[in-house]
Amino acid sequence: MCGIAGYIGKNQANEFLLSALKKLEYRGYDSAGMTILDSDGSLGYVRSVGKICDLEKKMRNEKKITGFVGIAHTRWATHGCPSEKNTHPHHDCKKDIFIVHNGIIENYKSLKKSLEKSGHKFESETDTEIIAHLIESHFDGNLQQAVFNCLRHIEGAYAIAVVSKSDPDKIIVAKKGSPLVIGVGDGEYFVASDASALVGYTDRVIYLDDDEMGIIEKDKYKIVSTTNNNQIHKEHCKIDSNVCEIQKCGHEFFLLKEIFEGPEVVENSIRGRIISEKGLTKLGGLEVIDQDKLRNINRIIIIACGTANYAGMIGEYMLEEYAGIPVEVEIGSEFRYRKPIIDEKTAVLVVSQSGETADTIASLQEAKRKGALSLGIVNTVGSTIARETDAGVYNHAGPEISVASTKALMSQITVLALLTVYIGRSREMSLVTGKRITDELKKIPKLMNQVLDTNEDIKRIAQKYSKYRNFLYLGRKYNYPIACEGALKLKEVAYKIHAEGYAGGEMKHGPIAMIDENFPCFFIAPSDSVYEKMWSNMEEVKARNGKIIAIATEGNEDIKDLADDVIYIPKTLEMLTPILTAIPLHLFAAYMGIEFGFDVDKPRNLAKSVTVE
Ligand code: GLU
Repeated sequence: MCGIAGYIGKNQANEFLLSALKKLEYRGYDSAGMTILDSDGSLGYVRSVGKICDLEKKMRNEKKITGFVGIAHTRWATHGCPSEKNTHPHHDCKKDIFIVHNGIIENYKSLKKSLEKSGHKFESETDTEIIAHLIESHFDGNLQQAVFNCLRHIEGAYAIAVVSKSDPDKIIVAKKGSPLVIGVGDGEYFVASDASALVGYTDRVIYLDDDEMGIIEKDKYKIVSTTNNNQIHKEHCKIDSNVCEIQKCGHEFFLLKEIFEGPEVVENSIRGRIISEKGLTKLGGLEVIDQDKLRNINRIIIIACGTANYAGMIGEYMLEEYAGIPVEVEIGSEFRYRKPIIDEKTAVLVVSQSGETADTIASLQEAKRKGALSLGIVNTVGSTIARETDAGVYNHAGPEISVASTKALMSQITVLALLTVYIGRSREMSLVTGKRITDELKKIPKLMNQVLDTNEDIKRIAQKYSKYRNFLYLGRKYNYPIACEGALKLKEVAYKIHAEGYAGGEMKHGPIAMIDENFPCFFIAPSDSVYEKMWSNMEEVKARNGKIIAIATEGNEDIKDLADDVIYIPKTLEMLTPILTAIPLHLFAAYMGIEFGFDVDKPRNLAKSVTVE
């Protein structure tokens, strides 16, 4: 998420800072800001919602800031909507210490409470602002020491850059979980979230590692450990010559980059939200509603469109099986024109990556008018859905740039699993079940990496099948929605092909007529409660000479008797298998589109956020 930049040296800081923010734009953002320390001891800052060019215009017309030390930021809101007061840099009470931050501070609420008690005044809704005040509370003129002491109290993920009027000739940076590089120039240093922002300024970089802190002055720097303050010797290295590609982290397309970000996304979605020993989940966004009201809900209607709708179907199965509450899933464009039966014991749960999906918003408004409790699962903070629902949970998936949604799906399923435990544990779900689900959820990122390791095999399979023009995707129970998702993704990014997603049991009611040697079938068949039924479907396809690509659980060798190609996933809880089975299907679609020479990030005729009917 977001981008950080910093400069200290012989030149005006704003020139590099603006250039770096522009190069970091690809990371996605909603607002931007900058702080510069002037050599006369004054300090100026400017913040603006919208594009970098808006910030630039403001700096030209309203607020000129000059100086040789500065920090800047593009924000992608996680805590508090995109607004000027939430835009970074944030400052302490005296406007002496300024900070930019990328990441999420998990324990910000408790820190904020205790800082407020001791008199600190907050101006924003962000988690970030507590860092400025915490540094202030430890500051006695030595910024390095104050940042070191502050970091010991912070839990979560961060990359930060800090400057202070009272200790002006330095920038302090630190990192844990979010990226940060220091660029080494001649009589100047640069800071950025990734090396692509340094192109044209220097090719020498120091990659900061987790739990490291950099103290950067205009002609020297040192790195110390944030755990024991000991100095760490680090050599700089040369930036990869192909640095433009760094924006895609070595991937040819954002689509691939985002598929590979899946494990990190799930990690971010569960961060700070699991209380393992109690088998509970903590969803701060839902705490604002009367918990008795939530307990009295006797029905949930999930409303979503496209891929989010398939996440909703998985949510339906989870919530009914484990939370014991009846759930229906509706497509936004249908729900809004029906006469749905809703009362005050109905909760409507809308799921949308952008939070701006027109049909979903219209459905939400209709349901609210009829008295439903409205909940949201949204990735974009401050979006219309985030504002209009009574309560909700953010995905924390970071910006999704590729039009075809992949990593957002992973986070939606993850949040739905967290929600299942949240609602389930306040009803019939036992501690043991709550623990089993949350323990398994914590293992998912590692298991996802194992599936991603089969990338080359999936690429090869996509190439092998690229001559076919029709595909059928079949799954049952938790993997029926994933069959639909696999077909949708193939249609979206490899649009020469037509694909259908079907429930395994429905095949004999129609699609089986199409099966022959030219009609390959994808079987999503992990070893779960419906595996035997999937096996029968595979027999039926084989009997008609259909080609079979199967996704199966590791150790299942028998499946090779029927399947022409097998992709394995590791074992996990049945309800969580969709997070693993979706990966090969996403990769397969991506490689198929690439094989056809398509720009898989921007498939023809599609828009990222569908804000029209
Ligand atoms: N959590 C911070 C905020 O909401 C930083 C977000 C980011 O990484 O851009 O302001």
